[in-house]
Amino acid sequence: MITETRNPETANSLSDLCNILNERAELIAWDDDGLIDDYPCDVTSLPTFGGTDPRDTTEVYSWNADSVLVPGAQITVSQSGWEIQPRCALCGEATFHCEHESID
Ligand SMILES: [Zn+2]
Repeated sequence: MITETRNPETANSLSDLCNILNERAELIAWDDDGLIDDYPCDVTSLPTFGGTDPRDTTEVYSWNADSVLVPGAQITVSQSGWEIQPRCALCGEATFHCEHESID
């Protein structure tokens, strides 16, 4: 069984970061032996990849010019994954912090 993943701090893009975090989340979720208890870095200070900082970073863990990294679907009851969502094209906030009508 794999017990190590790359450190999220070494990610070179937002999608790379999301993939690393999801690999780690899977390990934590299915770690019956208690070998892996957490992320190997502070997830509240992950690297970001350009673009302006969102004003509201509640539940927003990283970003680039047009996307944000946010908690994703639950893997198990106690562990969720990660996903990338588009930022609002008008204000640049995560869509759940934005009051614009969604524009398709
Ligand atoms: Zn907006």
